[in-house]
Amino acid sequence: MENKTRVRFAPSPTGELHVGNARTALFNWMFARHEGGRFILRIEDTDESRSDSAYQTSLLEDLKWLGLTWDEGPDIGGDYGPYRQSERLDLYEAHLKKLVDADLVYPCYCTEDELEEERQTLILAKRMPRYLGKCRNLGAGEREALAASGRKPSYRFKVPQTTIEFHDLIRGPMRFEGEAMGDFIIVRSNGMPAYNFAVVIDDHRMSVTHVIRGEDHLSNTALQIMLYRAFGFEEPTFAHHCLILGRDHAKLGKRHGSVSVGEFRRQGFLPEALVNYLGLLGSSFAGGREILSRDEMIEAFSLSRASKSGAVFDEDKLRWLNAAYIRNAATDNLLRRLEPFLRAAGYRPETLDTAWLTNVLETVKGELTTLAEIGDHIDLFFDERYSLSKEAERLLASPGAREVIGAFDEYLQRGEGDPGDIYAAAIRHAKEKSGVRGRDLFMPVRAALTGKLKGPELDRIFVALGVDSVRKRLAQVKKTLSI
Ligand code: GLU
Repeated sequence: MENKTRVRFAPSPTGELHVGNARTALFNWMFARHEGGRFILRIEDTDESRSDSAYQTSLLEDLKWLGLTWDEGPDIGGDYGPYRQSERLDLYEAHLKKLVDADLVYPCYCTEDELEEERQTLILAKRMPRYLGKCRNLGAGEREALAASGRKPSYRFKVPQTTIEFHDLIRGPMRFEGEAMGDFIIVRSNGMPAYNFAVVIDDHRMSVTHVIRGEDHLSNTALQIMLYRAFGFEEPTFAHHCLILGRDHAKLGKRHGSVSVGEFRRQGFLPEALVNYLGLLGSSFAGGREILSRDEMIEAFSLSRASKSGAVFDEDKLRWLNAAYIRNAATDNLLRRLEPFLRAAGYRPETLDTAWLTNVLETVKGELTTLAEIGDHIDLFFDERYSLSKEAERLLASPGAREVIGAFDEYLQRGEGDPGDIYAAAIRHAKEKSGVRGRDLFMPVRAALTGKLKGPELDRIFVALGVDSVRKRLAQVKKTLSI
């Protein structure tokens, strides 16, 4: 029988998917997969001024790209839909009516300006800003008069003066004093439900069993629990994970650099690397393991291993993981993923011989940190892009280097057969003839063959270039150096 565990990821389509939210999605996804439960995607788009359908599309794309597949959601439906809050407005209205009838809410006619004034007064008096309940005790006549003046009311929940306690699966026992909280808005004056209201109705109606989200929602949880109790709904279990921080320990934001999944995708990070990194961040796996497949992460996932204190985003570590995933990727698979990056770098992959390109990729993939770097690593294999860098030219100018190049070329003029054998024999010949060895022998050859001082293994480069191309390059070098 299917496990009853149901979790959800509930993004608001107000921007590109932030890595912090992607991590929340990942935690929920891993939890659902570990438990054999269901992972639900719900779009929280009731803030019309900030929501954008383009972001909704990109959120779904980014989640798919990360491989965090959902079992119910706006695109695939499910038994608990609709999965977009903007399509659930009737439901919120009906629930508002329940609270109105039970006298647990009241209309508030305060304007933005009035609320702001109250806020400023409280701040000046060094008191916590909150709504002091001006409209709570209005008489029917006063309400009518305000309504007649054209003011549209919002609806506020009457916060009970009790202590809210709950057990958080990551943070342990939590406690919030109702006294410290003002009556909060559940339906705005434009008729749209506020986040805390809609989320409770949806989580209840969608039979969500565990709410896993960032610790920035902790105080919202206290308000939501009040609503669960007001409706008589069973509360889900809550788990609030730590947030991702920048190096300065402030919440990770744009000023720290790349923060959205889309940015990392466009820079050529692999989804496996990003998912692995986000799963590792603020969590630990047995034996200090760092590279884990999805299945291994699901298997090892436990909320009890999630850390309570913030996790610093370490881009170097992500780069290290990305390089490892690129290095270990099957070359044909990598080739497919590299296509857009090759195009962006000015190459036309369809014009290249697949076997040759595969060989080139085999040769350079160990050098890549991101896919976007591919252009800088394969240019040396294209004769039309070949040129000597300044450093290469300087290195080749020494008498020892000139001698090495002369001898290496001499062998190539007559060498025939398998390119790998020719390379080995040419190196041997250059070594014997010039008396130069080690670095002083290989660096000039590298500089002449690639125009650069760094790169993959020379023997592999030689084979990928082919003898003709090497001969041409040596001729060019000899001309430049007047050898
Ligand atoms: N839409 C909310 C957000 O993006 C969802 C928070 C929650 O998981 O309840 O922050």
